Amino acid sequence: VAAERHYDIVVIGAGLAGLAGVIALRDAGLSVAVVDNIAKIDGSRMNWGHDLQPNALAALESLGLLDRVRELGAWHDAYQLEKLGGGPLSHWDYSMLDHRHPYAVCIRTHVLRELLREATRELDFVDLHIPATYTGLERTEGGHAVTIETGEGATERVHGRLVVAADGPRSRVREAAGIRARFKRGKRHWLDVIMDNPGDRIKDGYVYFGRGEYLGIVPTRPGELVAFHLTSTPNLDAYKQMIGGIDGFRARYAEMAPILAEPAQSVDSFDRTSHTLGHSMRAETWVDDGLLLLGDSGVTVNPITSSGAGLALEEGVAFGEVVSECFAKGDLSAAALAPYEERCRPRAEKMQDMGDTCTFVFGSRLPVVNGLKLRMLSRIDRDPAMKHRILAYFSGMEPDPIGYRDGLAAAGLWPRGRRPAASMPA
Ligand SMILES: Cc1cc2nc3c(=O)[nH]c(=O)nc-3n(C[C@H](O)[C@H](O)[C@H](O)COP(=O)(O)OP(=O)(O)OC[C@H]3O[C@@H](n4cnc5c(N)ncnc54)[C@H](O)[C@@H]3O)c2cc1C
Repeated sequence: VAAERHYDIVVIGAGLAGLAGVIALRDAGLSVAVVDNIAKIDGSRMNWGHDLQPNALAALESLGLLDRVRELGAWHDAYQLEKLGGGPLSHWDYSMLDHRHPYAVCIRTHVLRELLREATRELDFVDLHIPATYTGLERTEGGHAVTIETGEGATERVHGRLVVAADGPRSRVREAAGIRARFKRGKRHWLDVIMDNPGDRIKDGYVYFGRGEYLGIVPTRPGELVAFHLTSTPNLDAYKQMIGGIDGFRARYAEMAPILAEPAQSVDSFDRTSHTLGHSMRAETWVDDGLLLLGDSGVTVNPITSSGAGLALEEGVAFGEVVSECFAKGDLSAAALAPYEERCRPRAEKMQDMGDTCTFVFGSRLPVVNGLKLRMLSRIDRDPAMKHRILAYFSGMEPDPIGYRDGLAAAGLWPRGRRPAASMPA
C-alpha cells in the first residue's frame, strides 16, 4: 500500500452527478480526488440519449456547459403525442413555459459524459484516479480513508474530509457507510435504439401511445435519433424474440410510428440497442458525518420521466453550493450537510413516484386505463392550466406531481381547478 494522499473531497464515480458536483466546486478553493473504474467511455454500448429538460439546461448553464451541450446534442421545441399507428392526440410546446430555456436538448449519454470529463480534466484542483476501483471505506478522525485498486493488484489509499458516493444505484460506498436502500423491481423495462434521421426530417420529440404501448422518439444530433420503447421483456434476447428479429423490428416500429418507416430501415442489428431494467431505488438518507450521496446512489428514477440526468446535474449544482459553505464553516457533519438533502431529495422522490405512476398508466393493457389515458391526452387543450402544470412538472419547475385525480380532471371526469399552475422560479 502506497502512502495515503489527503484531499478535502474524494468523489467516487465520474458519472454525470459526480462530475457536475466537481465542476460546481470550481471556485471553492478545495482539493478534490475523483475515482472511477471506467477508463474510456464506450459509446457503442450506450445506445440512449438524455432528453434534458429546461431546469437541467439551467444547471448546465451554471456549470458553463450549456453552449457545448447545444452544439453536441439536438434541441427540440415541442413534443407531439400521437396514437399508436398515427393520429394526433396533442401538441406540447415548451414556449408555454415561463422559463429562459423553453426547449429541451437531447444528447447521447456518452457524449455528455465525455464532455463533463473533458471539463473536469481542465480543473487544476482535481486529481483524476481513472481507472481505479473503489474497494473500501474506513472512518477516521478527520473524515474517511478510501481504498482504491489501480490495476494489476496495486492498491492505494486516499483520504477525504468529505467522501461523496456518486457510484450509481448499486453504490458500494453507500453500502460500506451502512446506509440502507430500498430497491423496487419494475415489471416494465426499456429498449432504446439509435436510428438514422435522414435529412433531419424528425425535428420534434414524439410519443406514440397505444394499449400497453409507449414509444418515444427524439433527435439526438444531426442525422440521428433515439427511439425508446416500453416493454415487459426482461432482457434483450426476450425482446428480439418478441419483436421477430431485426426484420420484425423494422416492420413493427414503422407500424407503431409511421414517421419511423425510413429511419427504422437503418437499424441493421441489435448492436444499436440497449435494454434497461425499469427498477428503482431509494436510500434512507443522503448525508452522514463526512459523507454524502449524489445522483443515482440516492434515488433512481424511471427513464420515462426523462429526468435522471437532469436531477444528477441539478444535484451536482446544489452539492457545490452547500458543500462550499460547509467547508467555509469547517463543519462536515450530517447536520451541516442536511440542506443539500432538504433541497434535492423531495423532488427526486416525487419524480420517482411520478415515474412509477406513468409507467403503470402508460404500460397498462387494461382497456379502461387505456381509454382514460387517450381521452386525457386528446382533451388536454380544454384545460390549459393543467397542460401547463404537467409540462412544468416534467421540466423541473412545478413542485407538486400530477396525481390520478388530476389525470381524471384532464379527461373531463373530475372537477377541475384544484390548484393553479407552476409557481416555482425557473
Ligand atoms: C440505459 C439507460 C437509459 C437511461 N435513459 C435516461 C434518459 O433517457 N433520460 C434520463 O434523464 N436519464 C436516463 N437514464 C438515467 C441516467 O443515466 C442516470 O440517472 C444518471 O446518469 C445518473 O448519473 P450518476 O452519475 O448518478 O450515476 P452513474 O451514471 O451510474 O455513474 C456512476 C459512476 O460510478 C462509477 N463506479 C461505480 N462503481 C464504482 C467503483 N466501485 N469504483 C469506481 N467507480 C465506480 C461508474 O463507472 C460510473 O461512471 C438512463 C440510464 C440507463 C442505464
